[in-house]
Amino acid sequence: MEPLVVIFGSTGTGKSDLAVELATQFNGEIINADAMQMYKGLPIITNKITVDEQRGVPHHLLGNIELDADPWSVMEFRREATRIISEIHARGKLPIVVGGSAYYIDGLLFDNRLVKGETPPEADGQTREELVAKHPILAGSAEAMLEKLREVDPIMADRWHPNDVRKIRNSLEIFFTTGRRASDIYAEQRIQKQSRWASPDSEPVQKPWKLLLFWLYARRDALNDRLDKRVDKMVANGLLDETAELYDRYLTRVASGEIVDRTRGIVQSIGFWQFEPYLHALRQTPQRPDLAMLKQTGIEDTKTGTRRYAKYQVRWITMKTMTSLQEEKILNKLYLLDGTNVKTWHSEVAAKGVELTRKFLAGEQLPQPVDMSETARDVLALKVAESNRSATPCNKACDVCKKTFLTEESWQIHMSSKKHAKELRALKKTALTVFTPKEPQRLLTKSTTGSSRKTP
Ligand SMILES: [Zn+2]
Repeated sequence: MEPLVVIFGSTGTGKSDLAVELATQFNGEIINADAMQMYKGLPIITNKITVDEQRGVPHHLLGNIELDADPWSVMEFRREATRIISEIHARGKLPIVVGGSAYYIDGLLFDNRLVKGETPPEADGQTREELVAKHPILAGSAEAMLEKLREVDPIMADRWHPNDVRKIRNSLEIFFTTGRRASDIYAEQRIQKQSRWASPDSEPVQKPWKLLLFWLYARRDALNDRLDKRVDKMVANGLLDETAELYDRYLTRVASGEIVDRTRGIVQSIGFWQFEPYLHALRQTPQRPDLAMLKQTGIEDTKTGTRRYAKYQVRWITMKTMTSLQEEKILNKLYLLDGTNVKTWHSEVAAKGVELTRKFLAGEQLPQPVDMSETARDVLALKVAESNRSATPCNKACDVCKKTFLTEESWQIHMSSKKHAKELRALKKTALTVFTPKEPQRLLTKSTTGSSRKTP
């Protein structure tokens, strides 16, 4: 089997630097897995690695899509990344996937037949026009589609916000193309995964590549400081020029009658909407006395948004990526490298990463991931210990969330989760009061993609 190195972690931990270091030492090529860095131009807001920093290493999927284009779906990313990985192998080189868009990384690593909120692979055979011709409702209003979805798949209908046209449409498309409810398919996938984990004899899931995974980690306080400073540096380097450029593009699109999805694509970059009040004032009423204050607020909001994004990325890794690795019994391939201290970044991250990669490529015995550092032990130990013993099988259903759990552990986790508490609160509320539609979620809290970073 051919080797594949994958580097992920939150923004500001030095992923791109490690990737370049490994590529330089082991004849590698880099595949970007950061949705925002796939957009052309805007190097500051997307935190793109500079040509100098690339040190002559070939980079793929970097700046490869137009600014007005939709971001790639997980399916598209998986297909293209897999193709590029094969090409790099054919050149006798080492592919290194690096990026902060965890859903791309998961999409590549875990062969979920169906990715939540996306059109199923079966739909690939027919064009969107063909599908819509067969099911005209797919071109209808959000209300009409939601009504239809409520009829065919009430669980999914409950899950989506009435304004979330894309997700509502996707769930309907799944039903039309597979003849099955998306909710049933997800439940089935979950059961398959959990029963694998619960069964002590099941083998690790075979992957198309021999994997080495790096999680670049930094303790939160240190990281937050670093992220704040980075935002200041971005502003000094001309962030505001880029956001102004993006804002004018946005206005042009809106003026041409296009309905621009504010939650999708390049406009989702952290550091864009945060400056909207400032940019608006700058265009409309440039003599306003509080312009400087609006700008300062934009900077503060960008800092908050960046911190929140980093936290979200770490949560994704611990809740989703690690859980999937655990379920597939390949958690032992994940090495956490501690980039908390910038001063020791070279010894803790670069040197350890290089040594592990050397052993991995030479087929030598690798150390235990928990033995790599104090931080690795702190962060990984619990999950690793959990993995070393088999889960306790059970079959419990949460009536509130309409979910089934096949292991005692996942049941316990669910019952103490924020998600469950939220559902429970919502249920109590609807039982007590007349239904009033929720306010659309603010962008800041919804941001699922953003930029990642090259320097620690
Ligand atoms: Zn629940």
